[in-house]
Amino acid sequence: MELFAVPDLPEIRSGDDLASLVADRVDLRAGDVVCVASTVVSKAEGRTVDLADVTAGERARSVAARLERITGEEKDPRFAQVVIEESSDLVMEAPFLLTETRFGHITVNAGIDRSNVPGADLLLLPADPTASAARLHEEWGVPAVVTDTCGRPFRHGQRGVAIGWAGMPASRDWRGETDRDGRELDVTVESVVDELAAAANLLSGEGDGGTPVVVVRGFEFGDHAGSDELFRSYEDDLVRQALQEWEFDG
Ligand code: GDP
Ligand code: MN
Ligand code: MN
Repeated sequence: MELFAVPDLPEIRSGDDLASLVADRVDLRAGDVVCVASTVVSKAEGRTVDLADVTAGERARSVAARLERITGEEKDPRFAQVVIEESSDLVMEAPFLLTETRFGHITVNAGIDRSNVPGADLLLLPADPTASAARLHEEWGVPAVVTDTCGRPFRHGQRGVAIGWAGMPASRDWRGETDRDGRELDVTVESVVDELAAAANLLSGEGDGGTPVVVVRGFEFGDHAGSDELFRSYEDDLVRQALQEWEFDG
């Protein structure tokens, strides 16, 4: 398996045909998986927001005031408003805003970015990254994975994860297969799209590299059952349920 970044992509603007910009620069072939940083998908989809256009409601003002009190840092209630609008649930309100996006992904501040966004204050995640991936997959004829760099519980540091995918299952379901001793695997569902996203993120970088699209060449899903379950629901998430009972008082 080999990974390379698509060279010479321009600054992406609203309305740009991202599929063609990539296809013009690389000959995609069977066995490729194309990983695309959500930043450029969002830019192409015009998902920018100027804070001057936002009016904070009551909830946003109280969330921001509490955060300001706890962190001692200035918090713009209009930013809280945008985060709330992008979220189906606020999983934690302090000491930072951990939210479930409308498409089921849990991340800080609904994944809204303030870096690599020229000409606007904020860049939202794509509204439906799997739908975005499906459009790219259709144009390219190979699987597409939309990625974002996210923090994680239990460990320091951020890494790339898949937030949308099309043309391949999210996971390899190893259950029912055997290890080298013939012992049957009964829990292993390997999140392949996250592993590809992490590898791609390693190459695309976080700063001014200008390499938001990475081709994974020669990946084989193999002869395994597939699963598209990636985001845990509330009912299925014991850690999140425990968090519901807990209130930050630091
Ligand atoms: P995120 O992980 O999806 O939030 O994206 P990042 O902001 O970390 O950017 C990932 C990579 O894409 C970095 O190498 C950036 O320099 C690059 N990048 C971001 N926006 C653009 C763009 O509009 N054009 C190009 N060519 N590169 C970009
Ligand atoms: Mn991001
Ligand atoms: Mn990133």
